[in-house]
Parts: sequence; structure tokens; C-alpha cells
Amino acid sequence: MSPRPAAATTTELSGLRSRRLFAEARRWIPGGVNSPVRAWGRLGGEPPLIERGEGPCLIDEDGRHYIDYVLSWGPLLHGHAHPKVLAAVSEAAQRGLSFGAPTRHETALAKVLTEALPGCEQVRMVNSGTEATMSALRLARAATGRDLIIKCEGCYHGHADHLLVAAGSGAATFGHPDSAGVPAAFAEKTLVVPYNNTAAMEAVLKAHRHQVAAIIIEPVAGNMGFVQPVDGYLRALRRLATSHGALLIFDEVMTGFRTAWGGYQARCRVRPDLTCLGKVIGGGMPAAAYGGKRAIMRLLAPEGPCYQAGTLSGNPVAVAAGLATLRLAAAKDFYQKQELRLSRLVQGLEARARQHGVPFQAGVCGTMWGFFFAPRTVTNFAEAAAAHLERWTAFIRVMYARGIYLAPSPFEAAFWSSVHRSSHVKATLAAADEAFAAAAAV
Ligand SMILES: *Cc1c(COP(=O)(O)O)cnc(C)c1O
Repeated sequence: MSPRPAAATTTELSGLRSRRLFAEARRWIPGGVNSPVRAWGRLGGEPPLIERGEGPCLIDEDGRHYIDYVLSWGPLLHGHAHPKVLAAVSEAAQRGLSFGAPTRHETALAKVLTEALPGCEQVRMVNSGTEATMSALRLARAATGRDLIIKCEGCYHGHADHLLVAAGSGAATFGHPDSAGVPAAFAEKTLVVPYNNTAAMEAVLKAHRHQVAAIIIEPVAGNMGFVQPVDGYLRALRRLATSHGALLIFDEVMTGFRTAWGGYQARCRVRPDLTCLGKVIGGGMPAAAYGGKRAIMRLLAPEGPCYQAGTLSGNPVAVAAGLATLRLAAAKDFYQKQELRLSRLVQGLEARARQHGVPFQAGVCGTMWGFFFAPRTVTNFAEAAAAHLERWTAFIRVMYARGIYLAPSPFEAAFWSSVHRSSHVKATLAAADEAFAAAAAV
């Protein structure tokens, strides 16, 4: 199903020490990784093993330096090992790693989140984005007494059974499992429609009247590459959800505190019923949350009948990392400033692509960005999948060789941190000049 990676030799991608360490990892860990995309399968090579991070840079086991635009897949809004985040973490750790009992720090984080997010009056902390979406859906089903959910093709909402479903075809269809081990009976509860297609959403809602518990969506998609909602799309979903008695869930695990203070919902002024958060709110530690209107959140145990729990939920060290990260982002005009700085990078890339005659589409939203080797703006998964894979591969391989660390898959977003400087932009653009030349030769 996924396109074949271009032929490549591993020697070009990682150094000798990384290759030895990765061979050892593969003996004891399936594929050598604890999350599949880290294996660099699409590039047909092996990943360097990371020794440490410093600000916007990664240093691998062979001592190679990279300018990092993956940032742990989103959480590191202020780069690696930020002194203020580290200080908060070590201070919290001194007091103990976990209590399994309430602390005032959880309340402090809940207050920051609910004040920032228009759609959240209360939040419940969990440990990962997967837990957040899984729990939000259970809550939506509890609130509506309905079973079906609608998701968009190409959107990723974590690896819970009901959500590991892509599309059977471009048309609206019952979901097919996207993974072995997902019972068909679960996948059938998930309906899949193309992103940015209001008519398809409306048709599915009409075909399943009084059965749909929720529409779940990434308000800006970052798991099929970087794909922004077209004008009016999210507003239309809000209207459709309300008129069909379904809840609207914004999965802001990636966009929350990346695209704007208060998430993309603050930026687009569409208020979801439930919101899922993760990544940035843990600042690099495992923390996530889901929240919504008090009337819905009240259904959660111990107040209500919908059960959800977690031994390490609201972990004090993770909460400290999250709070420190958010405090740094609360500065006036933080997101506008970062977006402006990031835009210089993206415009620089577009200009170089033009010079080399390579069709290239790039976009920015806050501190999130991405690009496709495509002739026109990409608006859904089918268009993302039609982008030029060989050009992307040629481009990325040169970028790695020149010390620029981007996601090893064309179906991922890129990120920016508050500690990236114009010197990093300059170095990235110099590498890109060569990389576009390689892409143009494909
Ligand atoms: C990363 C991500 C998730 C899953 O979060 P994990 O912490 O990896 O479980 C869910 N939804 C979106 C939009 C994400 O980007």
C-alpha cells in the first residue's frame, strides 16, 4: 500500500557507530524502534541513534550535528534541553516522581489549558495523545448514546483500535482496519471521508441519522504531510455536527500550542465540543489531556458513568515540564513572532525550488510547517499521496547529508522552535539549494 522507498545504501544515512548500535537494537526491539516511523523505512536506510540534543540541534552517536525540524515530532516548542524546562523538571523530580494522588500543579496546568482553549471548561490529564483521543471518543459515545464516529482519510488520531482506520476508497465508506489485529467489528464503527470535503461529510451524516456520536478531526492536518483546512471547512463541520446531534472533536494533539496560544480553535474561532491535547503540553515528557464543556466532562468517573483512569496521569514531573514550556509560550505575540521567523525559512525554500524549476508547495501555521513536491496546494490525502515521492526522497537524502534533520516520511509535518535562529535558516537554505538540485535531476 505504501510507495516503495527509493533504493538507497544505509552507509549514506547513518554513521558506523549508529549502524552498530542499531543492529544491536534490532536484536532486542522489533525493528529496532519503539515507534515505527523512527526506522526510516521510507528512505530505505537506517536512522542515526541520537546521543543528545542542544537547543535546535541534534547530535548523533557518531558526533554528527543536525539542525532539527522534527523536534521529537512536535513537543519541543523551545528546542532540546531548554534550561527553564530542565530546571522545572529537576525541581519537580526532587519532590518525588509520582504520587498517584492529587497535586496543586495539576490544577495549575488545567487552569492554563482551560483559560487558553475556548472549547475547554474542564480537562482530564492522560499520558499520550492516543489515550486522549481514545478517551474523548468514549466520552462522546457516553454523551450521545451513539456508536459511530467519522474521521477523515489521512488524519492520524493515535493507535487505538477504532482510530487505526484509513479509507477503503476516496468515497465515503465503512472503515477498513489499517492494521492487523483490529477487529472488523471495531473498524465498522468508524466512517471515513476525505479531508476538506463538506459534501462527503454531510452525505455520511445523512446516511447514518441519529447514529453518529462524533466527528473527530485534526483542524490542521499534520499526519498526511502538512495540510491546512480550506476556508469555511471547520465552520461547516461545526454546523453539520450540531444539526445532526453529533459532537465535534478537535484533535489538537499536534496543533495545540503549536499553531496558536489556545490551539487552532482560538485561531479559526470554531469551538469544538471536545479537544484532545498532547505533545507540546508535556514539553517532551509524557503528558496529554482531553477537555470540553463541563456538562460533558461531568460524565467522567468519579462524577459520572464513563470510566477512564491512569496510574501516572497528571504525573508531577511531566506537568512541570508542560507548565514551564507553556509559560515560555505565553509571552506576548509569541506565535506571531515565531510564524514570521519561520516564514522566512519557508519563503526561502519556495524561492530555491523555483530557481531549480521544481514544483513545490509549502505552508506555515504558527510553528508548524510542511511541504510537498506537488504542482498545486494539497488539500487531502489523495493529493498528498500523489505528490512526487522520488523528488522528495532525493531532496531529503541531501538534506540529511548536509545536517538538516527533517521527518523521514513525506506524510509528516515539520516543526520550528523558539530557539531556531537566522543562522540555522541560512544553513538550511544553503543545504536546500543542493537538495533541490538533486530533486530537479530526478
Ligand atoms: C501524535 C498525535 C497523536 C498521538 O499521540 P501519541 O502521544 O503519539 O499517542 C494523536 N493525534 C494527533 C493529531 C497526533 O499528531
